[in-house]
Amino acid sequence: MLTELLRELAAQNVTLVAVSKTHPPERILEIYRQGQRIFGENRAQEMLEKHAALPADIEWHLIGHLQTNKVKYIAPFVRMIHSVDSLKLLQEIDKQALKNNRVIDCLLQFHIAQEETKFGLDEAEARELLSDDNFKQLKNIRICGVMGMATFTDDVTQVRSEFRRLKTIFDKLKKEFFPGDPNFREISMGMSGDWRIAVEEGSTMVRMGSLIFGERG
Ligand SMILES: *Cc1c(COP(=O)(O)O)cnc(C)c1O
Repeated sequence: MLTELLRELAAQNVTLVAVSKTHPPERILEIYRQGQRIFGENRAQEMLEKHAALPADIEWHLIGHLQTNKVKYIAPFVRMIHSVDSLKLLQEIDKQALKNNRVIDCLLQFHIAQEETKFGLDEAEARELLSDDNFKQLKNIRICGVMGMATFTDDVTQVRSEFRRLKTIFDKLKKEFFPGDPNFREISMGMSGDWRIAVEEGSTMVRMGSLIFGERG
């Protein structure tokens, strides 16, 4: 099943982040053996433990809310942080990346859902961040695009319009802040329940857990 899914995503140039949160290393290894190399976790501590227990060629993506005091645990190895929603967090990632002599790829997380609990920037906040002189000084982070989560609902029209909004935000920011920058290219949107809609609306990266690992316990 995974092979088929991977083929379908590859045909559309969409990257799969296999969301392994709550699943033990043995389960991750099963998926790894089927060829998957990118795994997503939503907690720094859990990611750190799994990183230590699993093959070194896994690319770890942090997809959940990240507290500044946890950045140091994952800075030595994290491949991409999808959940950047403040300058303060970005400054800390930059600082820890510098300590590790690395550049860390980051996505700006946007609040596109109706639910109030979901983290993320709005367009004005993103503009403010990207225009800030303190942002322009950061050398050890690379902004690679945007991320967002749609409302958890069966209303396909609503989900589609939220994904469409994220794509519009991406296009605007690319034009205004990243013209000619090939690194700014990712739109991380779509989960197990809504990934097809996300891909239709321009997703380049889907984050899927339950569809790959089964339901979380
Ligand atoms: C858990 C999670 C996912 C994956 O959810 P599924 O519905 O299991 O595919 C995707 N993105 C984020 C930010 C998550 O926390």
